[in-house]
Order: sequence, then C-alpha cells, then structure tokens
Amino acid sequence: MKKYLSLILIGLSIFIFVGCSSNYEYKKNLTSYSLNLVYDETTQTLDATQCVDYLNTSDNTLSEIKFHLYANAFREGAKASVVSLANTQKAYPNGKSYGNIQIESVKIGESDAQFVVGGEDENILEISLTNELFPNDRITICIDFIVTLANVNHRLGYGENAVNLCNFYPIACVYEGGDFVCDLYNSNGDPFYSEVSNYDVQITYPKNYILASSGNKIEDIENDTTKTTKINAFCVRDFGLVLSNKFETKTKKYDERVNISYFYTSDDNADDTMLLIENALNFFEEKIGQYPYESISVVETNFVHGGMEYPNLVLISDDVEDYSTYRLVIVHELCHQWWYGVVGNNQFDYGWIDEGLTEFCTVYFFDNYPEYERTMENMIRSATFSYTTFMKVYSDVQGQVDTSMNRALDEFNTEPEYVYNTYVKGTLLFSTVYELVGAKKFDSALKYYYSNNLYEIVTPTDVIKCFSRGTGRNLENLFNSYLEGKVQIVAK
Ligand SMILES: [Zn+2]
Repeated sequence: MKKYLSLILIGLSIFIFVGCSSNYEYKKNLTSYSLNLVYDETTQTLDATQCVDYLNTSDNTLSEIKFHLYANAFREGAKASVVSLANTQKAYPNGKSYGNIQIESVKIGESDAQFVVGGEDENILEISLTNELFPNDRITICIDFIVTLANVNHRLGYGENAVNLCNFYPIACVYEGGDFVCDLYNSNGDPFYSEVSNYDVQITYPKNYILASSGNKIEDIENDTTKTTKINAFCVRDFGLVLSNKFETKTKKYDERVNISYFYTSDDNADDTMLLIENALNFFEEKIGQYPYESISVVETNFVHGGMEYPNLVLISDDVEDYSTYRLVIVHELCHQWWYGVVGNNQFDYGWIDEGLTEFCTVYFFDNYPEYERTMENMIRSATFSYTTFMKVYSDVQGQVDTSMNRALDEFNTEPEYVYNTYVKGTLLFSTVYELVGAKKFDSALKYYYSNNLYEIVTPTDVIKCFSRGTGRNLENLFNSYLEGKVQIVAK
C-alpha cells in the first residue's frame, strides 16, 4: 500500500507519501477457491457461495480450519479500526457507515458443518472438521455468505466512482508453528497474510458496470439487465475486484504475454499512464525477474490511501494530489506484484519486507527514467531529510522514539511511526545496501532473492540471507542495525 501523511511536519516534502502462469507446473498442489458472486447495487450487497478445496500443507493433522473475515472489521462495534483517526473524514465523506460479512451456512460435502464466527473481533471463521485432515490431504468446504458494503473509500466498500471488492471473502489463515495465524485488522499498513492459491470466480453485476479484477477474464454472458463474468487465476495470493459504471478503459498487450488494462474515471494523461505501466513492467522484469501472470490491471478508484496492491490488480486513489505523485503511486503498487505478490511475507508482522523493498525499487525505477524528473540522489536525500526531521519532531514531542523496524502493525504507536519506520527507513536500508555493493551486485541480489522465493513466504532471516548471498557480502550486521533501530541516520 502507499500511505499519505497529512499530519505533523506541515510543509515538509515527503517523497514516499505517499502463478505460476508460464510456470503453472511449479505449484499444482494449491488450495483452490471457487466463488460465485452476485452484486446488488440497490442493497449494496454481495451474495456469495464459495467452495474451497483446502490442501493441508502443514505437517500436522488438522481438526479445524480457520479463515479470516476481514469484512467484519467494517461492522459497527468492531474493535479494530479500518482507518486512523486522521483519515476518517477522507474515508467516510458522507459520515460513518458500516458493513459486515454474514455467514449463512457452511457445508462439508452434503452435511452442515459446525462453525463459529470468533477470533478476537468476530474476525475469524472457525470450522470444525468431522474427520481429521492429514498432511497433504484435501477437503472441500462450501460457505454461503452475504457481504454488506459500507459507504467508505476503502479496500472494501462503495464510493462515488466505484465499488471496491477486496478482502471480502473468507480466506484461509496461514498455518505455521502449529497454529493458524489470526491477526486482527489494523488501520496501519496492510494487515493481510495469505498463501498463493488458485481461483475460479464468477460475478454477476448490472450490465452498465465495468469490471476490473485479478486473474484472467474467460467469458462475459449478458442478459437484459445483468452481466456475468467468469475469471480464473493461478498461483495468486489473493483475489480482488472493482466495479464502476464510470470507468473508461485502455488496454494493450505487453511483450505478447501480458494484457495491460487501465481503468480510470479522470486522467487527461491516460496514454502517458499506459506508457508508464509498460515502462515499470519492463524495468522490474529486467531488474528482478519475469512477471509470471497474463494480466495486470491498474484501477483509479475511490480509496483513502495512495494505492493498494492485489495480485494482477492495483488500486490507485482518485484523490492523489498531482500527476507526478500519481505516477509514483502507480510504480510503487506495480512493484508490489513482485514484492508481496510473487514473493510473499507476513505483512502484519514484517511490513518493511515488502514496503521497504518496493519503495526502494520505485526509486530505482525513476532513477533509470530521467523523463520523469526524479533521481535516486534527490529521492534518497529527501527521504533521509524527512526521516530525520520526523524522528526529531517525534522524539521532542514524545520524549523518546522507537526506531526499530521488526514490529507488528499493532506495535507501532501511531500511523506516522509505522510509515517512517517501514517505508522511509526501509527505503534507506535498501539504498544503503545498493550504495555499498553497487548496481551490478544489487541487481544480482534482486534476481537471486526473487528466483529463490517464487510464490513462497519469506522472513527477515530469508531476506538477509538472500541479499548476502546475492551480493557476495555478509549484510547481517547492516540489516540488523536498521531493523533493531541502532543505526544513526543523519540528513545529507
Ligand atoms: Zn506499498
């Protein structure tokens, strides 16, 4: 995601503000989701049936399976807030509005299954299995549910221009260390964590709407008033959709492999935007490795933050202040296809892994395209200045400041503290590595890190190991000095 800060440091320029496709064989054995969705614009609801062919990839025998219900964070009375206080007005311009997910039934085979909507905040669907599920065995679970959408400019909700349908369905919690990981929604960062899966999705919606989504569109079936679109996706970490009756679209084939689509409601520079998308794909493929999917959609929509990444789909806020920043957000979100999408990490516990590297690779991109008039030197200088200024102001106000990076989203005291330690300091960490080893070795490390972790989940230890091996330098102390908050960063 791309965050904006409007609080503190008024007047300070902060630059960050802001599969497997050809390789399907790589992971045939994945959990598969089949979703049948009906969007009703009069009730602002999504009526859904979801069948999950769940694969037990753990070494343990399971007697229950847990799914995140992120949509319940939007309900009245939720403990978790979906936006910070500072962003509430921007997210809810028409006043507070609520949504939720209602689980209607859960079936295993033909039988009703026992289930509980639990967790700390009605955020987890816990399904009891009648028969234990052994490692490498599968079970099919079908869930009927209704999502009620809030009027909110967020990942899930309807706004003035579009309906964002992201993080709306029960998605399996990652099982690790002998248990399911069930973190609460958090207004800081992207509180999501999931494994790559295959998807088969069908959605019915009013005929005058245009659909943008993850995956590959297979078929459109129209009748008098509605349209039904069938989509599939392979080896993706999540699945998102956006609907609008105001979209204009541009499409182009990239390298005869990837269908680029751009959905927007107001962009006087749409041709330039298409070129930017192509340039970004080209640069990241050259520096990191091949984009392994057949489609990528960039969608301008009502969204409280700068942007948000989903597999094959990125949301860009229609409220970005200027076109130069709009470009920055697009490149950042596209880079997430590599860092978060293909190479995954626990975004709740280690946000810096994908955000820090994505932000630095965005800087790297602009440094290689002088026509966009941003150099690495200027961007890093600006990042260093904003980081040191923020930390000074913060420590003056608070008396002390925690600059460690390896913190879960709920361990940051404020949204700015999260943003500066994750995005800005993450950028500075990778730029320090870049300066230390030089472009050639840094590029080798990017490729090494990517190719060794395709479709997997990395930890901080994996990142340090890969960058050390990829550059041929032991970077453990350097990484740890940043992560533990020991490094002294001074303005250049
Ligand atoms: Zn991001």
